[in-house]
Amino acid sequence: MKKLSKKTKQNILTVILIVLVVVLYLYKESNSGTQSETESAQPSLYPSQTYEFSSDNDSIGKLSLSDIPEYTGKGIIEINANKPYFTEDEMNEAKTLVYFEYYGDLDSLGRCTVAYDCLGVETMPVSGAKRGDISEIHPSGWHQRSYDCINQNTLMTRTHLAGWMLSAENANEKNLISGTRYMNADSMLEYEEMTENYLYHNKGKHVLYRITPMYNGDELVARGILMEARSVEDNGKSIEYCVYVYNVQPGIKINYSNGWSDYTGIFFDISAPSVQVGNLELYDFEMDMSSHIIHAPQCSECKEAAPFKGDIDAASSWPSLGYDICDCVYDMLDAIAA
Ligand SMILES: [Zn+2]
Repeated sequence: MKKLSKKTKQNILTVILIVLVVVLYLYKESNSGTQSETESAQPSLYPSQTYEFSSDNDSIGKLSLSDIPEYTGKGIIEINANKPYFTEDEMNEAKTLVYFEYYGDLDSLGRCTVAYDCLGVETMPVSGAKRGDISEIHPSGWHQRSYDCINQNTLMTRTHLAGWMLSAENANEKNLISGTRYMNADSMLEYEEMTENYLYHNKGKHVLYRITPMYNGDELVARGILMEARSVEDNGKSIEYCVYVYNVQPGIKINYSNGWSDYTGIFFDISAPSVQVGNLELYDFEMDMSSHIIHAPQCSECKEAAPFKGDIDAASSWPSLGYDICDCVYDMLDAIAA
């Protein structure tokens, strides 16, 4: 065999090296696809820890929308005596894993399923991190409409299940639902801030956190969400809650199957800061919650009364929106007009 020259040997070595580098690079790419994506999207100092969700983890499964009372003016209500449905195994697992984030796959209708996180300084945005743009995400049932009675006018917000300040999650479609401004900015915020405050002032502590959107059948917009939280290290002494948040907006009726909406002028929660009622002339009414019939105050036919303030300019639309009107209301409107 002819002896190879020194130059040819060098060339062969170089080719082998290049091939090795390319092969190694391709191997690394194929193995780190989704992980590197989450890491770069998360402005955190800590590596993201993905949680392996086991099927028996669905412990709120027994809770259904039929257990939830109809909204009558309180945007948020306690569930299960304010005790989260976390099992002992889940609490122990959280202690072992220290921190993690899990966002359930969208279901066959494209709806978010669950955010299940063990929150801590590891999952929160680093100081100075900027919120990313989430406008490219169109959550299931997304249908925007503006109303004068809503602060900033627009009804729908891209509502994070696990809030940005807790999870540093931006445009993650598994973590954003069509939520009213009232739910997002008024009802949820108090609980998110309570959790954030605890984690911020207790570095090294963690909160097991699960947000579950609850849908009625095949509807695309959630009727509400269940928020569960428990501080891990002290087993709930500092933070513990289990609340249902209504995805409603005072003055607006939402078609939950497609996200379309209409103005009702029926304001159950008149104190909601998102409701600007200054230019509206509102009158007292009552709704019989068992029959959805609207009455004037103190009508003897009203059995299960939920008081509300109503915009009488919108009263003519109430029947078409599914609220029957008692004769006492027409008498009242005549008296006002006279
Ligand atoms: Zn009546």
